[in-house]
Amino acid sequence: MKSTEIRVRFAPSPTGPLHMGGVRTALYNYLFARKHNGKMILRIEDTDQARFVPGAEEYIIESLSWCGIEFNEGVSVRGPLAPYRQSERKEIYQRYAMKLLETGHAYYAFDTPEELEALRKKAESEKSSPFQYDVKTRNHLRNSLVLSEVEVKKLLAEQTPYVIRIRIPENETIVLHDLIRGTVEVESNLLDDKVLFKSDGMPTYHLANVVDDYLMKITHVIRGEEWLPSAPLHVLLYKFFGWEEVMPQFAHLPLLLKPDGKGKLSKRDGDRLGFPVFPLQWKDPESGEISSGYRESGYLPEAFINIIAMLGWNPGTEQEIFTIQELIDSFSFDRVSKSGAKFDADKAKWYNHQFIQQTIDEELVKHLQTFLREKGQVIPDEKILQLLPLVKERAHLIPDLWDQMQFFFIRPGSYDEQLLKKRWKPETSPALLKIADLIEKSNSTEAEGLSSLVKGFIEEKQLNMGAVMLPLRIALVGSASGPDLFVIMEKLGVNEVAKRIRFLVNFVDQVK
Ligand code: GLU
Repeated sequence: MKSTEIRVRFAPSPTGPLHMGGVRTALYNYLFARKHNGKMILRIEDTDQARFVPGAEEYIIESLSWCGIEFNEGVSVRGPLAPYRQSERKEIYQRYAMKLLETGHAYYAFDTPEELEALRKKAESEKSSPFQYDVKTRNHLRNSLVLSEVEVKKLLAEQTPYVIRIRIPENETIVLHDLIRGTVEVESNLLDDKVLFKSDGMPTYHLANVVDDYLMKITHVIRGEEWLPSAPLHVLLYKFFGWEEVMPQFAHLPLLLKPDGKGKLSKRDGDRLGFPVFPLQWKDPESGEISSGYRESGYLPEAFINIIAMLGWNPGTEQEIFTIQELIDSFSFDRVSKSGAKFDADKAKWYNHQFIQQTIDEELVKHLQTFLREKGQVIPDEKILQLLPLVKERAHLIPDLWDQMQFFFIRPGSYDEQLLKKRWKPETSPALLKIADLIEKSNSTEAEGLSSLVKGFIEEKQLNMGAVMLPLRIALVGSASGPDLFVIMEKLGVNEVAKRIRFLVNFVDQVK
């Protein structure tokens, strides 16, 4: 028998920027599809008009593309089962809602929002269990299960606003097999008769999602844990439509948790603790508020992919750094955990540091130039290429590369004065001025020659190393950091070195 092709989908709603948890869902779908030579589909679930946010769909597409998550079919690439945007598929859902009405698995409900609100309030004031439109209450409400056919026809003819609700069966145990959680059983009596079709002519998420998964021949539904409570309803819909044979397998992914493990990772945690929760920077179209992104903060996409891959999945080995192909090869659901994954911002930076070390310099230059352009800095690629090997070891984020190398281009505008005070001895000024002279006249302009020149001088004069070398570094760099001092001298050139030394001595003399 020909085995069925694996088809998965990522189905975001364009209600705002894509959270990193959403990117992880997309990534696991992608890894699974690639591993099994399957197809990956991007479907936009935009049936909730009230929550639509302009720019969100474009943001989602750009984010996934930055991450290297590619689609075989979908809004951005088209495909044989188009359209892939739910708002363009309204008639399809209407047809399927009608089918459910015909077979008695759904019904019209004419209750007004005010009537339902009053029932909710009443339950609240009576301190009884919250009001639910369900098997117990539906027979006392205004719907086609209660009203006569004539009445229903009349209400429809008068264009009375209505919704279509699913008719949840009584006393049934709904069984669902989840690839991560195993068998999940839910009693139908606990479920409410969810709305499938709204008065605005749009389906709700549940109907559109199931109909599209069926029509798009989805074999595996891989999504966040927050959708697990909806899954029994979806299983029922497959049954009501007679699609049980082709019902997809489910995999509900664990939540991403705050660093302390207490609750879901939210945008506010990112703001509070200083790390991005979105792949790309996002500007809220209404408030203008800007949320930071991994890309703009200087993470490499390969590192970001690694960070999120490891949140909720582990390879079962000690390996931590993966290429995308290695992730594809090692991914499986039996290594996805059931419990939530704690986000660790330091670990995220560690990953980026590792990826900076293993990325070729030509590639790093491109990333760094993007930042420099933003800052209005014009530095030729060749210059950066020369300096990268000296500084990349100290960089965790791409802008760190610039922080570490900017003193090569810009004379220090300020100095670490506390350190200067501590280390500046009476002999420091004359010694530094002498060194400036020596360096200016030096035969050798290379690190090694400059090193023996300076060290020879210190020894000859029996000077304290610390009282000379550290101030020297501060003169060139502004602080106590940076690569080998003599390599710095070689790169700066002897004239610039002498200038910077004299500048510092002058500065210290003035502030004294
Ligand atoms: N539109 C849903 C979301 O925004 C998709 C859930 C699913 O994958 O079924 O997450």
